[in-house]
Amino acid sequence: MNAIRKELELVSVTKRYGATVAVNAINHRFQPGGYACLLGPSGCGKSSTLRMIAGHETVSDGSILLGGSDISHLPPAKRGTAMMFQNYALFPHLSVAENVAFSQKMRGVDRQERLKKAGEMLELVDLSALSDRLPDQLSGGQQQRVALARALITRPDVLLLDEPLSALDPFLRIRMRGELRKLQRELGISFIHVTHGQDEALALADEIVVMNNAVIEQAGSARDVFNAPTTAFVAQFIGGHNVIALPGGHFAIRTDAVAIGQAGAGNLQGNILGVEYQGAHVSVATMIAGDQEINALVPETEFFENPLNPGDQVGLTWDDANLHKLTA
Ligand code: ADP
Repeated sequence: MNAIRKELELVSVTKRYGATVAVNAINHRFQPGGYACLLGPSGCGKSSTLRMIAGHETVSDGSILLGGSDISHLPPAKRGTAMMFQNYALFPHLSVAENVAFSQKMRGVDRQERLKKAGEMLELVDLSALSDRLPDQLSGGQQQRVALARALITRPDVLLLDEPLSALDPFLRIRMRGELRKLQRELGISFIHVTHGQDEALALADEIVVMNNAVIEQAGSARDVFNAPTTAFVAQFIGGHNVIALPGGHFAIRTDAVAIGQAGAGNLQGNILGVEYQGAHVSVATMIAGDQEINALVPETEFFENPLNPGDQVGLTWDDANLHKLTA
């Protein structure tokens, strides 16, 4: 859609609401044309960051650059960004095509031209056949695609998505995330997607920006963040890791890198707390000395060759190369 991919950069961006610092001097350059997820727990400042990029919230300090120009003080429609909201915010009394064309009407584009553009966008999201329906005659997934078409009609450089999948049931959520990813690749524009779901971020993102307490804890490719979390918070939040205090500091190790064997052998001795069947894997929770819990994710067939029960004594083994030293 856009010949030149523009880089979005946050420079010491801060948001204060009275005494609350919602976003604290964050710096980040988003990969142009990439799919980025802002990931973190509720209240960490993700939506405030997104709304400042969109221009729906003022920046208290710092600046937002797009393609090198400061857009921090431009109105939303002049920024080259577009936002898709969580609840889709469709107009109930307007048809699908009129909903998509709405921003063009506000810009004074004539009816024929704006409906033509809306038609192109509906084709892009595969909804041409439903252009005359009203929003309440659509499924949740279809409503989401209308909201996407409506955001994309302004041909933004950056599409901002605030928890776009949270209103959908789990099956549809997985299907729609595949569609979002496909659409992003086809368009080649930057998507910035806010989520508190680590699975969603891992599945979608070229780049994950993990936020906590108003700051960026870690940013990197999905695999880098998952394989080498730098802080205990990231290791715990991204899931699939243990954080262990060992001589020399705190370390993260993936649960699937911990093997369970006979008592007396291995790196540490533990006592099984619980066993949870998860289909392809079995998650085994153990307690080691010092009241630390360590989880091992064991392939299903391996577990059932030698099943274990709560109360059993076991030895936990790993390769030290899989330990990642944490900085905080
Ligand atoms: P997230 O999207 O990660 O859940 P938010 O950006 O919505 O986080 O909120 C970050 C912090 O700012 C929270 O403490 C929240 O209560 C506060 N906050 C968000 N919006 C407002 C507002 N309009 N007025 C006052 N405080 C707000």
